[in-house]
Amino acid sequence: MSDKFDVIVIGAGPAGYVAAIRAAQLGLKVACVDAFAGKDGKQALGGTCLNVGCIPSKALLDSSRQFYNLTHNFDAHGISADNAKIDIPTFVARKDKIVKQFTGGVAQLFKANKVTPFFGKGKLLKGNQVEVTAADGAKQTISAANVILASGSVPIELPFARFDGKTIVDNAGALDFAAVPKRLAIIGAGVIGLELGSVWKRLGAEVIIIEALPDFLGSADADIAKVAQREFKKQGLDIKLGAKLGKAEVKKDGVHLVYTDKDGEQKLTVDKLLVAVGRRAYTDGLLADDTGVQLDERHRIVVDEHNHTGVDGVWAIGDAVRGPMLAHKGSEEGIAVAEWIAGKAGHVNFDTIPYVIYTEPELAWAGKTEKQLTEEGVPYKTGSFPFAANGRAVAMNEAVGQVKVIAHAETDRILGVHMIGPGVSELIAECVVAMEFKGSAEDLARIVHAHPTLSETVHEAALSVDKRAIHKGN
Ligand code: FAD
Ligand code: NAD
Repeated sequence: MSDKFDVIVIGAGPAGYVAAIRAAQLGLKVACVDAFAGKDGKQALGGTCLNVGCIPSKALLDSSRQFYNLTHNFDAHGISADNAKIDIPTFVARKDKIVKQFTGGVAQLFKANKVTPFFGKGKLLKGNQVEVTAADGAKQTISAANVILASGSVPIELPFARFDGKTIVDNAGALDFAAVPKRLAIIGAGVIGLELGSVWKRLGAEVIIIEALPDFLGSADADIAKVAQREFKKQGLDIKLGAKLGKAEVKKDGVHLVYTDKDGEQKLTVDKLLVAVGRRAYTDGLLADDTGVQLDERHRIVVDEHNHTGVDGVWAIGDAVRGPMLAHKGSEEGIAVAEWIAGKAGHVNFDTIPYVIYTEPELAWAGKTEKQLTEEGVPYKTGSFPFAANGRAVAMNEAVGQVKVIAHAETDRILGVHMIGPGVSELIAECVVAMEFKGSAEDLARIVHAHPTLSETVHEAALSVDKRAIHKGN
């Protein structure tokens, strides 16, 4: 096999594998180096997202949602089922099957696009060479005119609560519990804490979430975060804000935690502890000393607005660089970089990246919050509409939440859309399109939305910006 390529990508997560496929589509000879091994010890392409992130978490969220609905919500429809049970090995095996389907799918896509995969740890050497070290220590060196670094991220570990993979776990561990923990503590009420906390709560675990910050979901719109906090509380998630973990000790009967909150020192014993306090760029062992590629204080690879590192032919994308740690952000950077390399015009609009939290109800937003606009001194107006007044949501018995549209006070241009409610992970796409095309609230208000659909909530919220919503008082 030739060891010379046009492009080498290090990392086959959603940033790297997408970059590799797009570069190959553009006629370039591409290699992709990745070290991730699946449960069978074989190469599993797709990175964090496909193996232990986006996809498996959504599989478990969906199974647990079905179980929760069966045991809590179906009676309202006149449906009852006695002795509903969930078999955890089947529940986990279904998730594993989905993971395998998708990681195998990336391997098929590589084959179809003639991307050469390498299984091992890649290290950038000076002169755009990449040393690949296989699990058995065997080394080979390949080279390319362009190297794209897409090494992703790993969970942040707390020094006093080290992961042991069994009792104190990260996201991967919490996707693979052999049984429903009786008591699960989670450090961090962020996206992972809320999504995986929801999974195990729905299956019957007592879930206690310890969050250091005093505000709940500080990066979300304040009104949306308030509804979310109320709904999660109703579901029984015990979220302790302004609480700092001081100690986590594994003993025979579980993990003994000591944390402090406004009332002083607290003690808690749980069966399992999930630490979900954020992720850090994974650049360990990625760069030889003399490559010239710079890391910032958070070990992220420094890049310009075109994801170029400043070293000739070396680019970086995804969780390993600045910006939100989201799969779709990394994928778009991967496409853009492949296009820049091929002499085309790549493009990523950071202002319209959608954020979604896949809880029940779901949260989704894009653009600015009211708080950000106030801080920036931008004049704005808002319109909102509750799902309680949406026929489809009521028919589904899921009439919780609202959509809020924020538009510029003078130009009416949409500056942000914030939602909580049924299906909002899908509804946000319409708003992103409108924002991408520099649309106004009036534009959304004049678009015909099918009746009865959840999307009418977006329509009514846009109408409400100008105080002319039809199905509520203005
Ligand atoms: P990664 O997916 O981390 O992939 C990097 C790959 O590079 C890995 O396979 C790694 O093994 C490999 N690698 C690293 N260094 C080397 C090296 N030196 N040599 C060879 N290989 C190397 N995002 C969303 O948008 N939506 C979601 O719903 C969502 N859910 C998530 C749920 C969980 C539980 C977690 C943990 C994350 C979730 N994310 C979600 C975040 C998402 O997974 C990441 O943003 C995304 O995976 C980043 O893609 P990436 O390609 O930059 O890196
Ligand atoms: P996060 O940044 O979303 O949340 C971490 C939380 O932990 C924060 O609220 C933070 O204040 C808190 N925290 C930090 N240190 C703490 C401490 N010592 N004690 C108590 N609380 C502490 O991070 P995450 O939930 O670990 O997720 C990591 C990344 O993965 C996210 O940034 C997100 O981009 C990505 N992700 C995305 C999705 C999605 O898009 N639906 C799902 C899961 C993960």
